[in-house]
Amino acid sequence: DLYGTARRNSAGADLSVADERQRLIAAIAALETTSLSAGPIIGGALKTGEAVADAKSPSDHKVLGRASEAAAADIDEAFRLAKAAQPAWDRIGGPERAKVLRAMGDALEADADRLIAILCREAGKTLPDAISEVREAADFCRYYAHLAETQFGQADVLTGPVGETNTLHLHGRGVFACISPWNFPLAIFTGQIAAALAAGNGVVAKPAEQTPLVAAAAVRLFHAAGMDPRLLALAPGRGETVGAALVNHPSLDGVAFTGGTETAWAINRRLASRLGPIVPFIAETGGLNAMFVDTTALKEQVIDDVIASAFGSAGQRCSALRILMVPHETADALIEGIAGAMDALVIGDSADPKTDIGPVIDAEAQAALHQHLSRLRREAKVLHRLAAPDQGTFFGPVLAEIAHAGVLEKEVFGPILHIVRYDPEDLAAAAKPLVDRGYGLTLGVHSRLERFAEAVMATVPAGNVYVNRSIIGAVVGVQPFGGEGLSGTGPKAGGPHALTRFASERAVSVNI
Ligand code: GLU
Repeated sequence: DLYGTARRNSAGADLSVADERQRLIAAIAALETTSLSAGPIIGGALKTGEAVADAKSPSDHKVLGRASEAAAADIDEAFRLAKAAQPAWDRIGGPERAKVLRAMGDALEADADRLIAILCREAGKTLPDAISEVREAADFCRYYAHLAETQFGQADVLTGPVGETNTLHLHGRGVFACISPWNFPLAIFTGQIAAALAAGNGVVAKPAEQTPLVAAAAVRLFHAAGMDPRLLALAPGRGETVGAALVNHPSLDGVAFTGGTETAWAINRRLASRLGPIVPFIAETGGLNAMFVDTTALKEQVIDDVIASAFGSAGQRCSALRILMVPHETADALIEGIAGAMDALVIGDSADPKTDIGPVIDAEAQAALHQHLSRLRREAKVLHRLAAPDQGTFFGPVLAEIAHAGVLEKEVFGPILHIVRYDPEDLAAAAKPLVDRGYGLTLGVHSRLERFAEAVMATVPAGNVYVNRSIIGAVVGVQPFGGEGLSGTGPKAGGPHALTRFASERAVSVNI
């Protein structure tokens, strides 16, 4: 049972219940009086580190705490400890490792209010997004615990010649560098670590430089849940310094990375130029995700799903909708409906339960979106734009019409939706510029015709296809998540094959 059908996904808080809402608001208020800190956590101890900087909220720029960067000596020490502890961790087997991961799943739920508060303030997550994120982190721990039990328990016995016993064993590879993004600073951070640990590895984890505080909280929880501190170190800092040091480290046995395609290329180049063991690179990168609507689609449903997919989480999901393909016949009505629904969105402080759309992560992200908007004003048609608060790094959602999907060269990471008018009868021509770009993450279809949905799927490669629903919010064990081509290497996060590349396979043939 690879999917763990008996397994339940985490329930999470319910914002419609006044008590639960109040509890979360109180947890956010409590952060005002607590000074959080993050820095290298090596062998369970928080080090002072280098390049100490303030961690600020993107909603209002208030200082939340201090964070420092791991130094080269910290990284050496982290690898040394993990290397020494890893063989025993591999030997105890999947079922024993699963116990620690399940304890971590429980610890995340027990500490959910505080983690939600940090996510709202540090990452600018809305409350519903922050709640989902804690749930997803717990789900990853429990799902990978299940895979550790089923796949790393007993060796598979294979058929062979009479008198010979043939078995296949899965082992951890050694020490993985887990490099994670700021857009899911708890769920993806925890998911990568849980996968590497479940498969019998040690981990040196580098969170995004924008979100060290929630990462430090998660690492402390892992240790409190019983994870040997030598096997999990936190190495916060910038990609150019800490990321590069991890990827160049002579003791490295594998890399799990989620982030931009360009960074994935850079890591791949560095790994390729290393001498010594050839290590696996698991990358989950960006997308240029499209949704194809035909004339049979239900307008209200399309509008709801488009708003959620393009503007939810301020468009800062790699799964988010970037290009909406609308039929010539219904384009005007759909555009009017989407613009109307945009007007109902509340943009503001992510900690306010009324907020639909919080800030973008930082000034750099905001500037990149402004730059793209200026280009759209010059070269395309901006159809609708919402105003955004001045304080903090907000960006008002944009709806723009472009001539064809090829106008976009790469992922634009934020709340900008591009619309293309097309002829569903000539799907291949309209899809070609998109397919030529080479991404393959999420894909949406809105139609009541099965054959249209099948035609879209056969034309546009994508790792996750969603028919008549939003294209975001993959659930662990339900929608294993990850793309193809420029969008990633696989295996999918939250899917039954997730642990395979974290492991090495050994075949043993015995004649006695
Ligand atoms: N798994 C998330 C989703 O389905 C996206 C992950 C990401 O943005 O990296 O929406």
